[in-house]
Amino acid sequence: MTLTDIAISENRLILDGQEVDSVSGETFERTSPAHDVVVARYAKGGAGDVARAVTAARRAFDAGPWPKRAGVERSRVLRRVADLIRRDRDHLARIEALESGKPITQAFDEVDASAELWDYAATLARHSYGDAHNDLGPDVLAMVVNEPLGVVSIITPWNFPLLIVSQKLPFALAVGCTAVVKPSELTPGTTVHLARLIIEAGADEGVVNVVTGSGGVGSAMSAHPDVDMISFTGSTEVGRKVAAAGGQLLKRIELELGGKNPQIICADADLDAAADAVVFGVYFNAGECCNSGSRVLVQRSIADDFVAEVINRARRVPVGDPLDPATKVGAIVSDEQLAVIERYVSEGRSGDAELLLGGGRVASDTGRFYQPTVFANVRPEMSIAREEIFGPVLSVLTFDNLDEAVGIANSTMYGLSAGIWTRDINAALSASRALRAGTVWVNRWMDGYPELPFGGYNASGEGRELGRQAIGSFTQTKTIQLQVGERTTRWVPAAHHPGGLS
Ligand code: NDP
Repeated sequence: MTLTDIAISENRLILDGQEVDSVSGETFERTSPAHDVVVARYAKGGAGDVARAVTAARRAFDAGPWPKRAGVERSRVLRRVADLIRRDRDHLARIEALESGKPITQAFDEVDASAELWDYAATLARHSYGDAHNDLGPDVLAMVVNEPLGVVSIITPWNFPLLIVSQKLPFALAVGCTAVVKPSELTPGTTVHLARLIIEAGADEGVVNVVTGSGGVGSAMSAHPDVDMISFTGSTEVGRKVAAAGGQLLKRIELELGGKNPQIICADADLDAAADAVVFGVYFNAGECCNSGSRVLVQRSIADDFVAEVINRARRVPVGDPLDPATKVGAIVSDEQLAVIERYVSEGRSGDAELLLGGGRVASDTGRFYQPTVFANVRPEMSIAREEIFGPVLSVLTFDNLDEAVGIANSTMYGLSAGIWTRDINAALSASRALRAGTVWVNRWMDGYPELPFGGYNASGEGRELGRQAIGSFTQTKTIQLQVGERTTRWVPAAHHPGGLS
């Protein structure tokens, strides 16, 4: 595909099963961060549109057929969505690459992984059963049933737009919830298209509504009284605001807030595999990745050789046009994000860390590209060791023994993921238990599976996505007790009436 194939796509809000203009009638455009070309136009939603969307989702939940459909019926719809995502694979990957700036090969992987999530949720839709208790006593039988929570506000970021909405939405739908979705204004395209596919797959009107826009849409969604749950992925700073707004109204809240993920490289590890994982871990998606392995802790005895090998490989990572299948690092998503990266790199330079590679923009006629960057001799208290940069910037620290490494690894406010590379099984197991992170990889990095729960400790978030427990995220439990036979004890026995109570 070349740039000349690109036509501007026109998109409206998706409300109550229809594509409609926003209340204001205003629109906004998305420009490809790699090519500086307008690729799409969207309706600019506002608080009034959020109100329309929540009303539609509320009606679909309270009075529509979706929550009452049998699990097998909802499962069929979700399975069809997975098939339609695969049918439109090229289209979706192209939107993702153009709007986010990620390489087209990684966009294809993202689309494939998203389809898998819809398939997995389709399976779970048939397993939302509860428990029965028949051992509470001879005169009682109890049931514990899962009921859908209601209307869910889903707010997603720009780094993996289709994947992240697919980590939330199909699981909400599987149990019978309805949703209002707000994609990042930088990358709304795949979410809008996904909503069209959900309607095509047979979801009822109002089950999924999409409001595009910015500057107040998200906060209207988290503060709306008719919303039962907010599921947000983004920065810790905004996550705190979501928690405050939702907490005030006692909504359920699920937050996935990124990390500063450490990889511990021990001297006895398979250093070839570890170097490959370090380079992949930090430069994948240009480092705009909550699971970015942006903090590497290397045992001092091998540090110089290991870092030299990482730099050797990092130099060969192709940076450039996302539409070129050879590209491994595409464009930075926005000028704002580029400024964030530049600020952190400048802080790294002004400290006593050593800049060994990169540290600047890649010269190009269009777009915004950043060089794969490596800082060595980073100290744990430096901002480039503690804060999420969300760019292709690696910070290398050193340690002498594993206890020290785990202490450094655990010393930031985050706790999303962590990794250890060693051939010593005891070291691997004890570090895995001691690392305060939602996911620990041993001798691997970044793989994820729909079957495995995902989420963070500490400031990396609240709650878990995926896995079997995803059902629990979007349901609430009801206990039903049945009297078996006649109750023999009465608090106040009925008065005697010759004709009985009637
Ligand atoms: P933010 O974390 O700032 O989130 C922006 C989104 O949050 C927008 O959709 C916005 O909607 C919404 N929002 C803002 N306030 C509220 C609120 N009170 N309630 C509900 N939603 C709200 O993302 P940015 O794009 O600005 O990225 C900033 C940093 O976040 C990055 O540099 C990176 O470090 C991190 N990040 C982490 C990600 C992750 O995967 N964990 C993903 C992306 C970014 P509206 O504009 O309508 O108000």
